[in-house]
Amino acid sequence: MNKLIKIDSINDIPSEYRTTPVGLLFEYHNLERPSESYDKAQLLIGMCMDNRKHLHMPDNFAFIIRSGGANLRYSEFKVSYAIGVGQVRHIALIGHNNCGMVNLIARKNEFIDGLVNSAGWERDRAEEHFFHFAPMFEIGSETDFILSETKRLRLRYPKIVIAPMFYLVEDNKLYLIDER
Ligand SMILES: [Zn+2]
Repeated sequence: MNKLIKIDSINDIPSEYRTTPVGLLFEYHNLERPSESYDKAQLLIGMCMDNRKHLHMPDNFAFIIRSGGANLRYSEFKVSYAIGVGQVRHIALIGHNNCGMVNLIARKNEFIDGLVNSAGWERDRAEEHFFHFAPMFEIGSETDFILSETKRLRLRYPKIVIAPMFYLVEDNKLYLIDER
């Protein structure tokens, strides 16, 4: 796994992010900065749909797109909307450890049985569904995926600042993923 940069004080936030909405997200979530009021979103957050994560930040501070593994490849229109109409200039892309989108093939039977037993699907359709979509949603490694998705989004939206971040489910803190 790539190295995580711990953010325990304002000085730990790298200067390129410190006075930006990305730095503010670290301050609100990790450093107990008091809530402020916002009349429009400052930031777009892309994060996994996983239920173990909760962000501490003020109302109206951010748009949030949640999808398996924080994969925004299939949410690009929403990203463009947040930038074009919502006027955000910063994106925090947040992965997390123990992500269910890693090694999907290991959950194949569970996935198919669940659809058959709980949703009333035919087994053939459930299998086809799994094999069609699993390669699109598999992320391989949580940190590598966030770094590659960060690079892809920087090429796609060159004037937008994009920070690769990580949520550790054990301590519920946000980290920066070391890009060096
Ligand atoms: Zn996840």
